[in-house]
Amino acid sequence: MEIKVVAVIGAGVMGRGIAHVAALSGFETILYDVSTSQGQQALVAIEANLSKGVKRGKVEPAAMASALERLRFEGDLRSAVKTADFVIEAIPERMALKLELFTTLDESTPPHAILASNTSSLSVTEMAAAVARPQRVIGMHFFNPVHIMKLVEIIRALETDDETFLATKALAEAFGKQTVAVNESPGFVTSRINVLIGNEAFCMLQEGVASASDIDRAIKLGLNHPMGPFEMGDMVGLDTRLATLKHLHRTLGEKYRPSPLLEKYVKAGRLGRKVGRGVYDYDT
Ligand code: NAD
Repeated sequence: MEIKVVAVIGAGVMGRGIAHVAALSGFETILYDVSTSQGQQALVAIEANLSKGVKRGKVEPAAMASALERLRFEGDLRSAVKTADFVIEAIPERMALKLELFTTLDESTPPHAILASNTSSLSVTEMAAAVARPQRVIGMHFFNPVHIMKLVEIIRALETDDETFLATKALAEAFGKQTVAVNESPGFVTSRINVLIGNEAFCMLQEGVASASDIDRAIKLGLNHPMGPFEMGDMVGLDTRLATLKHLHRTLGEKYRPSPLLEKYVKAGRLGRKVGRGVYDYDT
């Protein structure tokens, strides 16, 4: 199937990254968010990231200009998706929100459109059950920062058909990504392992085993991880991380019980880089 128009729903950390790669890869890209200011900020951030790419010699100036021409923000959901061949949602990790969105997408997109979720852990099968075309629903799990990270996990829900799987794989490859196929299971491959490491780091911090920066240094220098678990958590967003842990705790059991210290950070509004403060402080 031919994909020309990609709609991205949610213009936060992930949605703006997905819109960036979609536009740069030659697709007409329409970004929607419930918050117009988030949408406007996303366009500014995408332009800034493309400019950085140009300065570093990774993006041709002409490619940046045409990517920006292909990209627009649309403040009305139904208008944003009415011509979409492929929709990728990146709204918060809450099933009730995703189900409501999928119902609207089903009513408002062309019947051939594929509906993909960038969920980190939730059941794509449950989202598929909310629509009349469950065979055209799939998980497309990108990584942060989307324009740099190479992997997309493609999650096959119970009813996902082969045509949808192959079109999604081809789209991820057109975005310059490599893919792994995952049969739906909570947390897929990557989140299932990654949140355990991050949660254990919070447990250690709470117990006073070492400082946050020393835990990060130990994991980077001793285990050769490119980022420490707190640096990673702050980049992902501690609220997103906590939501994933809660879901895996419910579905996979006790070893995923969220650290009380992580819960406290989220209650305090220390959500990570996106708000300027998480485990570490950032210039906003
Ligand atoms: P975020 O909080 O940065 O952004 C979410 C955006 O969705 C916000 O701009 C918000 O205004 C908007 N929004 C809220 N409700 C909406 C609705 N009903 N319709 C349209 N827009 C709505 O979140 P994020 O970190 O970008 O995460 C989005 C999804 O991607 C989640 O499912 C998360 O689990 C997944 N994910 C996140 C990461 C990560 O590193 N942050 C990585 C992979 C996957």
